[in-house]
Amino acid sequence: MKIDDEFTILRVQENGKRLIYLDNAATTQHPRSVLDRVVRYYTQDNANPHRGVYDLAQRATDAHETARKRVARFINAKRSEEVVFTQNCSEALNLVAVGYGMEHIGEGDEIVVAVSEHHSSMVPWQRVAKAKGAVIRYLYPDKNGRYTEKEIREKITPETRVVAIAHISNVLGIVNPVRLIAEYAHKAGAIVVLDCAQSISHIRVDVQELDVDLAAFSGHKMYAPMGVGVLYGRSDLLRSMEPMLCGGDMISEVHEGSYSWADVPRRFETGTRNVGGEVGLEAAIDFVERIGRDRIAEHEERLMEIALAGMRKLDHIDIYGGDEGRKGVISFNVRDVHPHDVATLMDSEGIALRAGHHCAQPLMEYLGIGSCCRISLAVYNTEDDIRTFLGVLSEVRRWMGLGS
Ligand SMILES: *Cc1c(COP(=O)(O)O)cnc(C)c1O
Repeated sequence: MKIDDEFTILRVQENGKRLIYLDNAATTQHPRSVLDRVVRYYTQDNANPHRGVYDLAQRATDAHETARKRVARFINAKRSEEVVFTQNCSEALNLVAVGYGMEHIGEGDEIVVAVSEHHSSMVPWQRVAKAKGAVIRYLYPDKNGRYTEKEIREKITPETRVVAIAHISNVLGIVNPVRLIAEYAHKAGAIVVLDCAQSISHIRVDVQELDVDLAAFSGHKMYAPMGVGVLYGRSDLLRSMEPMLCGGDMISEVHEGSYSWADVPRRFETGTRNVGGEVGLEAAIDFVERIGRDRIAEHEERLMEIALAGMRKLDHIDIYGGDEGRKGVISFNVRDVHPHDVATLMDSEGIALRAGHHCAQPLMEYLGIGSCCRISLAVYNTEDDIRTFLGVLSEVRRWMGLGS
């Protein structure tokens, strides 16, 4: 498979230049195999799953359940019933806060949240804390963007009920010590909710090996269509959770005066599902495994080294987080230049990168900055992309009239 041929969008010209797409942490592009698979579903198998006895509806149901099994294998869940389909990572994390937090957290309980969390992994817990009189304790990273064992040991106490942590922060890009956190959390009797939105496309995510209780990610950051996400949960834990939405397809029985929920995972999958997105996610997993996760990691690692080495050579560039354990993401500022100006200049050269607070405002405050730029990698990026980016980056200050 030639990767270039799979991603037609990368042949698009931006501002008369070849598109260099370095905003993969926001969303990835889609290989042809994923798009073909979605079209095949809609042209051959589309019906409302779980609702018809006719053959077509059965095929749609099969597609829905086969995709679930594929996801379960991909993240090494013990059973496919531990995989809940959601719209995206945000919905999955909200489902945990509502379905678990609002049920099992009370006054004086503590929720440990990393300060680098994406708003989607933080705000739902802030809301639970406010509603329940619980306390949030934040984990703070060291200057290399790492959560030290000392910090983890001090923040997780016998009062801790939940620890919310990203596998990789979408700003710092450093792989967090999830297993260690899980060890401390479990010793304290707390559960670990992992946000693997960023890690899922870059490194192996094995929920059993990481020993997390719940985990969430979006399909669209790993080459699948938008509108499909996943919540993984240990089945006993899922069974202790309430649904976030009620209605069609998620109940066992309804009478005028009573109702009972369906078993998991259907209890959480209210209404008509995005089966097209789910088969797209299945195809995206096929795509990733066809290339090989280790090969993807190696390729991205090489690009990361080139980018970091090049950026470290330039004066006036601040990089957030150290180099060690970094995957997929580099956030930075060019001194005295607003990130939006950097992004605009980059765009004029066909380079798509992100500038802003990256849905991580508390982290921006902790770092003492308002916003920053971010480049993020995917399998289709090339050495040439990185060299072009470095070339433009080295010119930014001069273009802004600030000398070199
Ligand atoms: C993108 C992202 C999210 C939210 O994903 P959505 O698809 O927008 O719901 C959550 N956490 C992290 C770390 C992310 O990068």
